[in-house]
Amino acid sequence: MITIEAELKRPGHSYSILFAPGLCADWRREAASRVPAQSYLALIDANLARKGIVQARPNGTADGAWRYLWVEPGEERKSLEQYAELCEQALRFGIDRKTVVVAVGGGVTGDIAGFVAATLLRGLRLVQMPTTLLAQVDSSVGGKNGVNATAGKNLVGTFLQPELVLIDPVFLDSLPEREYLAGVAEVVKTAVLDGRRFFGELEQSTDRLLARDHDFLSEAIAHCCRVKTGYVMEDELDTGKRQLLNLGHTFGHALEALAGYDGRVVHGEAVAVGMVLACDFAAARGSMPAGDAAAVRELLSRLGLPAAIADLGKNGAGVPVPMPWRDLLAGRDGERALFMDKKAGGGKVNLVLPRAIGDCRFEKGFDAGEVMDFMRAGV
Ligand code: NAD
Repeated sequence: MITIEAELKRPGHSYSILFAPGLCADWRREAASRVPAQSYLALIDANLARKGIVQARPNGTADGAWRYLWVEPGEERKSLEQYAELCEQALRFGIDRKTVVVAVGGGVTGDIAGFVAATLLRGLRLVQMPTTLLAQVDSSVGGKNGVNATAGKNLVGTFLQPELVLIDPVFLDSLPEREYLAGVAEVVKTAVLDGRRFFGELEQSTDRLLARDHDFLSEAIAHCCRVKTGYVMEDELDTGKRQLLNLGHTFGHALEALAGYDGRVVHGEAVAVGMVLACDFAAARGSMPAGDAAAVRELLSRLGLPAAIADLGKNGAGVPVPMPWRDLLAGRDGERALFMDKKAGGGKVNLVLPRAIGDCRFEKGFDAGEVMDFMRAGV
């Protein structure tokens, strides 16, 4: 078993992240033995419960110390409505301030469950048990939670660090290929951010990564969590170094928004292309070696991820769904999409840009016109 201790500066906010194949085979016992409590509220991704991927009692039922609520996944259900329903249902169960919330699911379930835990009865303890690769390498650690609002994604939420994170790569066996690759994009992001050695390991091990080899995955996911917790320990509230984790996201969010969140472009695919654009933009400005930018593009392609704007909009079955990128990027809509990003301000765009693989910087004040011209030229 691999263990990482996330030691946060705020007293009482440190926690363990444990990794091992098979760790969550008996997930209730594993959580209860490590975080003892009188009662538990399990918030479970409804797809996992319905398909029997996770053994769980029916929605709204109780079993000894455990109460079960199913969370409908999907970005559109990461809503204030579902959050409110879950709180109301949880309160009908008669939970108390010592109840521990256990989140079992992908990033959507983890983010809603974290928000429920942070706010219900003014704060309950939280265990995260992420079941998608994206949630295992990213969303389950670091303490950000929340739901979407009409005005935008993740606009309502808090910071609540979990008390424990249990990561079992066996969950990933049943993950659809496209969801899996979305998480792989975040793994590559970690390598570009922090570690030429890790990048080299990924280049050498694309077969093991694509085959979802449990031992390789345990090591790779642990490395990503180690890097992320390093940033979070230094900058828990995301005002400085933690922002580097947004590598590829400014371009990626703009592309995702322009594509219209209709499933033709998923987040991880947009981040993959966003990363390539960040590398190419840096290389074009002479601040990153062109060879490093090419290596990032090549690794993403070998892993089956899109590595150019024109690659986006091909659906999971590999059937191309043409996207009119030139039109989408034209004029005000393109710029508006770029400015939607939380890191933009004052007519200027801020970007995380690599200087080399393993060395990224947060760079401020790029002219939006220059960035848009660069994106359009790449289509
Ligand atoms: P998701 O939770 O919607 O899961 C994707 C799909 O996979 C769902 O249909 C789900 O039912 C299914 N699924 C989950 N586990 C499975 C398994 N083991 N086998 C088969 N199917 C499974 O999406 P996601 O990609 O995990 O998370 C995306 C969310 O994460 C976004 O809302 C994003 O904002 C959030 N996020 C949060 C943070 C953070 O720091 N809190 C960081 C990154 C992303």
